[in-house]
Amino acid sequence: MTETNFTPALLKSDVLRHLTFTLGKDAANASGYDWRMALSFAIRDRIMEPWFASTRRTWAEDRKRVYYLSMEFLIGRLLEDATVNLDLRDISEQVMRELGQDFHTLVEGEPDAALGNGGLGRLAACFMESMATVGCPAYGYGIRYEHGLFRQSFERGQQVEMPEDWLSQTNPWEFARPESAYVIPFKGNVEMRDGKEFWVPGETVLASAYDTPVIGWQGKWANTLRLWSAKPTKQFDLERFNRGDYAAAAEPEALARTLSRVLYPDDTTYQGKELRLKQEFFLTSAALQDILRRFKTRHSDLRSLPKHVAIQMNDTHPAIAGPELIRLLVDENGMGFDDALDTARDCLGYTNHTLLPEALERWATFTFGNTLPRHMQIVERIDSWHRRTFSPPHYIGIVKHQEVRMGELAFVMAHKVNGVSALHSDLVKKNLFPELDALHPGRIINETNGVTPRRWLKMSNRPLSGLITEAIGAGWEDQLDRLKELEPLVDDSAFRAKFDAAKRANKIALEAWIAQECGVKVSPDALFDVQVKRIHEYKRQLLNILQTVAHYQRIKANPKATWVPRVKIFGGKSAPGYAVAKEIIHLINDVAQVINADPEVGDLLKVIYPANYNVSMAERLVPAADLSEQISTAGKEASGTGNMKFMMNGAPTIGTLDGANVEILQEVGAENFFLFGLTTDEAMKRREDPDQSRKAIDASLALQNVLQAVAEGQFSPDQKDRYHGLVHRVWHHDYFLVAADFDSFDAAQDKVDTAYADRQAWIKMAALNTARSGFFSSDRTIRSYMKDVWTIPSAL
Ligand SMILES: *Cc1c(COP(=O)(O)O)cnc(C)c1O
Repeated sequence: MTETNFTPALLKSDVLRHLTFTLGKDAANASGYDWRMALSFAIRDRIMEPWFASTRRTWAEDRKRVYYLSMEFLIGRLLEDATVNLDLRDISEQVMRELGQDFHTLVEGEPDAALGNGGLGRLAACFMESMATVGCPAYGYGIRYEHGLFRQSFERGQQVEMPEDWLSQTNPWEFARPESAYVIPFKGNVEMRDGKEFWVPGETVLASAYDTPVIGWQGKWANTLRLWSAKPTKQFDLERFNRGDYAAAAEPEALARTLSRVLYPDDTTYQGKELRLKQEFFLTSAALQDILRRFKTRHSDLRSLPKHVAIQMNDTHPAIAGPELIRLLVDENGMGFDDALDTARDCLGYTNHTLLPEALERWATFTFGNTLPRHMQIVERIDSWHRRTFSPPHYIGIVKHQEVRMGELAFVMAHKVNGVSALHSDLVKKNLFPELDALHPGRIINETNGVTPRRWLKMSNRPLSGLITEAIGAGWEDQLDRLKELEPLVDDSAFRAKFDAAKRANKIALEAWIAQECGVKVSPDALFDVQVKRIHEYKRQLLNILQTVAHYQRIKANPKATWVPRVKIFGGKSAPGYAVAKEIIHLINDVAQVINADPEVGDLLKVIYPANYNVSMAERLVPAADLSEQISTAGKEASGTGNMKFMMNGAPTIGTLDGANVEILQEVGAENFFLFGLTTDEAMKRREDPDQSRKAIDASLALQNVLQAVAEGQFSPDQKDRYHGLVHRVWHHDYFLVAADFDSFDAAQDKVDTAYADRQAWIKMAALNTARSGFFSSDRTIRSYMKDVWTIPSAL
């Protein structure tokens, strides 16, 4: 990139040019939307050169590429992120100010690209940014959902879902590529022709590409996120229309568009919905056809595919990639089955994201065979090949009890299978795939997740990132281990004062936003305690709110004692059909209403639950947090990435030994982490006692008082028995061990209060969390995949 691209004068003239010639607006009456678009196009222009250069180099040097297949990309906003990575953040602000516009306000007008549910989709977005930063040639492949994750609001404390429509505005970051389109077949029959199977599909749709460039740190490399949109293969039926049959005339279009219409809003349970299977195949087949087309423009021997192509399956959602690649190689390119199987396996990697049995995809063979008849045959052939070749001591079936098991399919078809934290990868070996692990030793490896420090520190926490640069110089953004250089400074009181001032600035900004968003006044002197993530029983928001009630009861019993003031902040969406999670949301809002209205408590305790948690809200909350709540039942959270964002931003964790918390604890040291709760083994043992929760409640006076207050309707005066069912479940069906861990959690919270009261010691602890968070950069994760899974060197 040439230096002159960076001058404010040139950027300003480009913004004005786009305003006039791209948007057709006169500066005299342009709206904020117009200015944002003009700035976005001017910034986008500056991505083109590095984007083309990266693509040209990959072709010229015939480099191997990664193809990251994911049903979700939880991207968030792109404008500020792009300015940060191009080092145009401050120049943009200055230029827009000169044009009479507030950069911050413009940036906040951009809708979040919410093409994902939570951690899995956000990981894919962090990986795209890190692959561009470390110079890993890559394509991300996903679906261009017309409607991303629903918008959440609360009505009388209960979650209400509204459709999200990010595409109702122009998306300035994407380029339609109608020339890159593939026919995706479904249904029909398999016939024999000349002794070979031949699939005659019953329906087809067209997958049409939209490309978004993904620019890495300092614009040194850029990759492509290619999202597929479904279009009808048959055009609008003019004959029917002319006959007056308007509905039937539009049928092909309606059928196709449902495929990329909505994101499934559930990330922890699996539902055997045919449309979901069709979406998974739609993404996967389009991606594989695109990969083979690109390969064939340069190479002819398809057996060398693994030298040029690494395909990563983000969870089992794209696990149909195994059979689909075999189908394309065998049916459409004439390769023998055994060669095709070897070739496919050498290309494919599979990342497991969950141990929860209810989240493991299994398709009824009826649905699967109906929708993908040729793939049903191929899956059965893979299954019998696997049994024949490896002769397992027990029956291991991809197809079992009339179901196709996608975890087993992905495992068998991948050369590497990885978990996403050290603990999780261990459990994948021991509990999820013990027999397959024994047959294929070494195939399961660990790749601990990470997050991109450009978005999650540099961009979203300017006070702290400014301080870091002042303290250790620039360059830590893509060498996050350099944060270690902050360690000696934590004993310097001047540095601690600055660190504290940065945190306070973020808390004051959040205080203003909370007042505006929730109408509640909170004090920045209070400890900001934050639990934001999808609402799920295993993540135990219930434990957190029940402990909040215990704390409230203690304040009420002794209002004159010295209490450390707290603001408890919750955020997160429940899957629309998940009744128990919705009840927990209702309880949090009910408890908030009672506590926040209690004058005796005042600033000592506030409970805040802003609606519609998303990436942009995380960017506000994380920098302002004093305490990170990572309290899942041990053995249930695969990794977590929220935990890493908080650590980077100087919030110590209160947490269980679960997921990547284990590695956070290891890095930061036990003295800087508030550990509580049962371990994975203890939790499994505990569940063997059918009376375990009653025993825990009997032993805890605090918990008895809390459950009684909730059951009696102290927080639901308009409907006293609202939480009978919920309290009954804690007593009798407490699979996630809320009662068993309650006292331990309560005691750890007490330690937090004591620690927070010692201001200098607390700031030191917070600063050490930042200083020791370098391991959790997704750059580290990506470099490790490049070495251990993809065998791809950096192009930089
Ligand atoms: C990071 C992130 C997540 C994942 O959070 P966990 O605490 O790891 O579950 C989910 N949603 C959003 C919007 C995020 O930014």
